Amino acid sequence: MRRSSLAAGTLLTTLIQKQWPHEAVLISDEPLPPYQRPPLSKDYLAGKTARESLYLRPHSMYENAGHRLRLGERVERIDRVNKTVELSDQSTLGYDRLVLATGARVRRLNAPGADLEGIHYLRDIADTDALRSQLSPGQRLVIVGGGYIGLEVAAIAVKGGLKVTVLEAAGRVMQRVTGPEISAFFLAKHRDAGEEVRLDTSVIGFEADDDGHVAGVAVADGSTVPVDVVLVAVGITPETALAESAGLPCDDGILVDEYVRSGDPAILAIGDCTRHRNVFFEQPQRMESVANAVDQARTAAATLMGDDKPYDAVPWFWSNQYDVRLQMVGLSKDHDERVVRGNPRDGAFAVFYMREGHLVAVDAVNLPIAFMVGKKLVYQHRDVDAEALSDPDIELKSLV
Ligand SMILES: Cc1cc2nc3c(=O)[nH]c(=O)nc-3n(C[C@H](O)[C@H](O)[C@H](O)COP(=O)(O)OP(=O)(O)OC[C@H]3O[C@@H](n4cnc5c(N)ncnc54)[C@H](O)[C@@H]3O)c2cc1C
Repeated sequence: MRRSSLAAGTLLTTLIQKQWPHEAVLISDEPLPPYQRPPLSKDYLAGKTARESLYLRPHSMYENAGHRLRLGERVERIDRVNKTVELSDQSTLGYDRLVLATGARVRRLNAPGADLEGIHYLRDIADTDALRSQLSPGQRLVIVGGGYIGLEVAAIAVKGGLKVTVLEAAGRVMQRVTGPEISAFFLAKHRDAGEEVRLDTSVIGFEADDDGHVAGVAVADGSTVPVDVVLVAVGITPETALAESAGLPCDDGILVDEYVRSGDPAILAIGDCTRHRNVFFEQPQRMESVANAVDQARTAAATLMGDDKPYDAVPWFWSNQYDVRLQMVGLSKDHDERVVRGNPRDGAFAVFYMREGHLVAVDAVNLPIAFMVGKKLVYQHRDVDAEALSDPDIELKSLV
C-alpha cells in the first residue's frame, strides 16, 4: 500500500515491471494519478504542455496490472498495532507493508495579510492552474523568494508580458543550493530580461484594496511594492504529520535507513518526506528532487522484494530559466575550493566544488558535458586535479 505521487507512482511502476506478485493500493488526496511536478513551474505554467502529459502513466495501466488507485482520499491515521490505515471517507484498509510517500507542503508566510486573495503558492496542478489564470500581459507580479521555483516562474511571466519583481531575503539568489558564481550569473540573466530583483529584502506584510485583493507587498525597509498578483515561493517542509502521530521517528523528515525502512520494519518512506541515509554521505540527508524520489522508489521496490540494495545514488537536479539549463550534481555546501571552467559571459560554464582534493559537486550552466563527467567523478569520490578541471585545453572526458 502506498501514497501518491511521484515517488509512489515510480514505486508502483517499478513493482509492475518486476512482476511483484501482490496487490498494491495507492492512496492520494489529489484527484489525479501520479504526475511530474517540475513542469508546473516551467512548460505547464507556460501553457506549452497538456495536463495528461504530466502523468507518469495512464490511470488504467496501474489497474490493468491488478493494483488500485484511491484518488481524492486522504489517509488520516495509521494504526501500527493492527496494521491498518484510516481514510478520510471513514473506511479502513489493512496492510502488510506500508510505504509513506507524503512529499512536502509549501512553507507559508506568517505575515499580516498573507491570506489575501491574489496570493499564490505552487505545489500542485491546481496551484499552477490558479496562478496561470492570473498571469495576463501588463499585470504586476511580485515573487517572494528567489529560489528555483520563484525564478522559473519569473522567467515564464516575463516572457508572457508581465512586469516582474522578485524579492529575496538573502544576499544572493538560489543561495541555499548553489555558489556565488552561479547566483551572480542568474541574477544578471533575470535583471537583463527586465525583472526587478531585490536582494536582502524581507517581506513583512501585504496590503489589500477595497475588495480584499492583494494590492501591495510591504518590505522591511518601509517601502511597499504595488502588485496585482503575488507568488510566495519560500521553500517547503516535509509532510511528516501522519508519521509523527503514528510515533515514527522524525527529524525534519521521516527518518529512514539506507533501505528506506522507517523505525517500524513494516513501514517504508520515500521521497521529499524523508531524511534518509545514503551510503554515499556520512550524515542523513533530506532532498527535494525528482532524482531522489525516483531512486528511493527503486530502493523501496528492492526492499519490498527482499532484494535489499542500499541507497547509494548521487543526488542531481536541474532548473530551466530563460534559455539556460542549469544541471547540478552532488552537494556543494561543505566545499573548501571552487574551480570555474569556462566564462559566465559566454553563457556556458561550470563550477566544480572540491573538498580535500576530491570533487563533491558540479553546477553546469548550458554545459552538459561538465554535468555528465562531474556525475561520474563525484560518484567515484576521486581526487581530481583542480587545474585540469579549469583548463579548456584538457578534455573533461579524459579525467574520468
Ligand atoms: C513547481 C515545482 C517544480 C519543481 N521542479 C523540479 C525540478 O526542476 N527538478 C527536480 O528534480 N525537482 C523539482 N521539483 C521537486 C520534485 O517535484 C519533488 O522532489 C518530487 O515531486 C517529490 O516527490 P514525492 O513523491 O516525494 O512527493 P510529491 O510529488 O509531493 O507527492 C506527495 C503526494 O502525497 C500526497 N499526500 C500527502 N499527505 C497525504 C495523506 N495524508 N493522504 C493522502 N495523500 C497525501 C500529496 O498530496 C501528494 O500528492 C519541483 C517541485 C515543484 C512543486
